[in-house]
Amino acid sequence: MKWDEFERWGEWISHWAAEYHRTLRDRPVRAPTAPGDTAARIAPVPPEAGEAMEAILDDFETIVMPGMTHWQHPRFFAYFPANAAPPSMLADILVTTIAAQCMLWQTSPAATELEQVMVDWLRQALGLPAGYAGVIQDSASSATLSAVLTMRELAIGFSGNREGLNAKGNMRIYCSDQVHSSIDRACWVAGIGQQNLVKIGTTGPRHAVDVAALQRAIAEDRAAGHVPAGIIAITGGTGIGASDRHGPVLEVARREGLYSHLDAAWAGSAMICPEFRDDFWDGVAGFDSIVLNSHKWLGAQFDCSVQFLKDPAAQLDTLKIEPEYLKTTGGGVTNYSEWTIPLGRRFRALKIWFLIRSYGLEGLRDRIRNHVAWAGEVCEAIRALDGFEIVTEPILSLFSFRAPGDDACQQRLVDALNNDGRIYLTQGTFGGRKVIRFQVGQFDTTRDDVMMAADVIDEVWNRIR
Ligand SMILES: *Cc1c(COP(=O)(O)O)cnc(C)c1O
Repeated sequence: MKWDEFERWGEWISHWAAEYHRTLRDRPVRAPTAPGDTAARIAPVPPEAGEAMEAILDDFETIVMPGMTHWQHPRFFAYFPANAAPPSMLADILVTTIAAQCMLWQTSPAATELEQVMVDWLRQALGLPAGYAGVIQDSASSATLSAVLTMRELAIGFSGNREGLNAKGNMRIYCSDQVHSSIDRACWVAGIGQQNLVKIGTTGPRHAVDVAALQRAIAEDRAAGHVPAGIIAITGGTGIGASDRHGPVLEVARREGLYSHLDAAWAGSAMICPEFRDDFWDGVAGFDSIVLNSHKWLGAQFDCSVQFLKDPAAQLDTLKIEPEYLKTTGGGVTNYSEWTIPLGRRFRALKIWFLIRSYGLEGLRDRIRNHVAWAGEVCEAIRALDGFEIVTEPILSLFSFRAPGDDACQQRLVDALNNDGRIYLTQGTFGGRKVIRFQVGQFDTTRDDVMMAADVIDEVWNRIR
C-alpha cells in the first residue's frame, strides 16, 4: 500500500469511527449471531493475489460488524466497562504509526520517560503517597502474575528461577473467595498450584476478607510446615464488587513478613474521586504492589494496566534478564522490560497522557461520580419492580439482583434481555444462587440510558414470565 492510499483510507476509517459512535445506540448491544455464522462467511483459504481495500472494508462491514458485541455501547452493563475515550484512540493510532518497541530506555527514550511520569500522574490522582514507582503492563493478569512470581521468589530466597521448584515446599498465597480468576491462573502458572491458593471467606456489607480467619490460616500453615508467600487483596471484585479492609489485611502481612498485592483492576479508577477513598482505599499505602486497569473505567483504550510498586527491586530481581544484545551502556535509566514478563512493549503511556490532558482529572471524576449515582438510582428502580430482589447492594457502580423465581428464571431473563438487544447484562453467582449483575461505567452513557434499563427489564420480564 502506498502512503497516499493509506492517507485516503485513514480518513475513511476516522469518518467511519465517528459515525459508528454517533449511531451506536441503534445497534443491538450483544451480537445477534449464532456460533459459526461469521466463520462460514470468511474465505477458507488465503488469497494468492492482493485485493482492493474497497473489497476488504466492504467485507468488514458485512461480515465482521454483524458479529461484534458493542463494548462501547452506552447501554453495555455487562462484565466491566472497557472504555476507549476518543483522545486515547487517537494516541493509539499515533503509537501504532510509530510502532516502537519500548523495552529499553535506549529503544524509545521518550516512551520510557513519559511512562514514568504518567505512572506518577496516576499515583497522585489516586492519592497514593510519593515513593511508589510503577510500570504499565498489558493486563491485570500480567501484573498479578508478576506479583505472584515475586512472592514466590521472595519466599524461597530467589532460588526458584535458578533451581526450579522441586523440594521448595508448599508455597501458600492467601486471598478472599471473591478474587478474580486471574489470581487462580497466576498461581497455576507460577508453579504455586491451585491447592496452595488459600481462599478465605468474607464478612460485612462490603464482603471483605475475614481477617481473623486469614491470620488463623497462616498460623495453621506455618504449623503444618508450609511456606506462606504472600497476600492478595481486592478493591472491587469482579463478581459483586467485594472490597477488603486494607489496614487490617496489611497488618497481617507486616506481622507475617508477607509480600502484598492489591487487585483494584476495575474499581481502582474510582479512587481518583477522594470521597470514595475512606471506604475503599483506607490504608492502601502499605501494599507492595497495586494493579489498576486504566483501560477499564478510567477511559484509556485497551491495553493499559498500571502496576504500582513500593519498591521495584524484588520484582526486578524476579524478572530481570540481560542477554548480551540487550545490554546498554551507561546507567541511571529505566529499562522497563526488566519489570515485566514480555520483552516487547507497546508505548502505552501516550494514551494516558492524551486522556488526562484532554478531560482533566475533573472531567474523568465527573463521569465516575455520575456512574455511581445512576447505579444507585437504577438499583432502586429495579428493587421497586414487582417481586424483584436486590441481592448485593451497590458497591460503587456494581450491584446484583434477582427476578422472582429460581435460577433458571434468572438465566431465562438474562437471555431474553440480551436477545432483545437494547441492553446487555450478564449473570453471576452469589451465596450459591444465580444473580444478574449490573454495572454502570461506559464512558458516554447517560442517565437516560441507565434508567431505561429498568423499563426494559420490566417489559421483557412481563413478556417471558
Ligand atoms: C478485569 C479484572 C481483572 C482482569 O483484568 P485483565 O486486564 O483482563 O487481565 C482482574 N481483576 C479484576 C478485579 C478485574 O475487574
